Amino acid sequence: MLSKKEFWIGLDDTDSAEGMCTTWLGARLIRDLRAVGFLVKEARLIRLNPTIPYRTRGNAAIAIRASGDPDVAFAHACTLVHAYADFRCEKTHPGVVVADEQLPPDFYFKAVTSICTISEVEELLTKHARVWKGFKLGRGLIGAAAAIASVLPDHTWEFLAYRDESRWTTPREVDPESLFTSEAVTTPHTWDTVDWIQNSVVCVPHSSDPVLYGIRGDSPFAVARAASCIRSESYPWGQIWLTNQGTDAHLVTGTIGSLEEGSSYRVNGTVLKQPVTGTGGHVSLVIGDEGAELTCMAFEPTKTFRQQIRLLIPGDQIIAVGSYLNSTLNLEKFCLCSSEKDERRTAPYCKTCHKQMTSAGTGKGYKCRKCGEKAHEPEIVTHRREILPGWYEVPPSARRHLARPLIRRKEGPANIFFTG
Ligand code: ATP
Repeated sequence: MLSKKEFWIGLDDTDSAEGMCTTWLGARLIRDLRAVGFLVKEARLIRLNPTIPYRTRGNAAIAIRASGDPDVAFAHACTLVHAYADFRCEKTHPGVVVADEQLPPDFYFKAVTSICTISEVEELLTKHARVWKGFKLGRGLIGAAAAIASVLPDHTWEFLAYRDESRWTTPREVDPESLFTSEAVTTPHTWDTVDWIQNSVVCVPHSSDPVLYGIRGDSPFAVARAASCIRSESYPWGQIWLTNQGTDAHLVTGTIGSLEEGSSYRVNGTVLKQPVTGTGGHVSLVIGDEGAELTCMAFEPTKTFRQQIRLLIPGDQIIAVGSYLNSTLNLEKFCLCSSEKDERRTAPYCKTCHKQMTSAGTGKGYKCRKCGEKAHEPEIVTHRREILPGWYEVPPSARRHLARPLIRRKEGPANIFFTG
């Protein structure tokens, strides 16, 4: 007879670029535990700091709340890790943690916004966990512990369909048209299934991992409904995860001049220079605040978003949002809070013959070539701005897992404009 004790189990760092996926291992653990009488009460897919260099893809970890015998669950999780984790990969260092209750939330907040060390997590586990095991370097203990420590003041859901093991290396068969239908039927309760602007599919991965597709949404019902619209190869099972994806959990409010490498921020600033498009189509924007300057980048994969950046002019007040890496803020979105008048100096028109004057030479003002009339001052022409105040974001194909899509925005300036 199994004990019905409630416990948490966390897993991380089992995959490599060639295959496997920690969420698959977690979903498999859930199925196996249920099959022997465990009650699984919650399945969390927790994304952590997106700038961490050790990550394979989206820095995901999983945590499960269940009741049953925690030691049996721990032993089975370790068996699954042994059997499936990609130990050949030098970046794969799995971790399994079991705790009788949630771990202190401060550890989650640090892991989602900053950098943690293995010795730090070992100290935490010694104080608060029931049992744990790190494989190889055991770095996965950080993600496993952070997932168990996660608090979700905001949350979303994701349905992940998992492929049969025999198909993991074969091309995926998902009907693109049905994905567009799925999102059309369930929007705004789901997002990032497809990218309407670029007419492309977003929810089907390209690597040889077990995921067939993932549907993100604001309730388990929305993601299940969306999945029911999709025509694809048959898949043996799927899992609906409760997640911090799409919640901006990685962002902290920062000030230009005191940002830390590897964290993600919202910062207020004034546009100081006209944005510049560099080689490769990357757009840079310099903003400032109280004498300090910050270069923000919108890289080529952010596609149409770059066009919104190019429309900014010196004097515009913005909130810039993104990750701070190599002294640059890599933009995920921005809010144009107040826009500067676009006033440009131009040669005045002659009052007599209504022709536009031309320069009379450096520092000599302007002269009408027809009647000789002179003027000292240029005319100031106000041009209509092509961008309105409001939020602008990267397209779904360039979105970070943790970035909150504008479609979910509940507060903020009334004007919400999508790129495109
Ligand atoms: P997987 O599907 O295996 O989870 P992934 O792309 O999510 O792949 P991992 O392979 O898990 O990335 O690699 C991320 C590694 O970084 C893990 O070992 C995790 O414990 C660790 N990690 C996550 N967040 C932090 C952090 N804030 N500080 C230090 N290490 C972290």
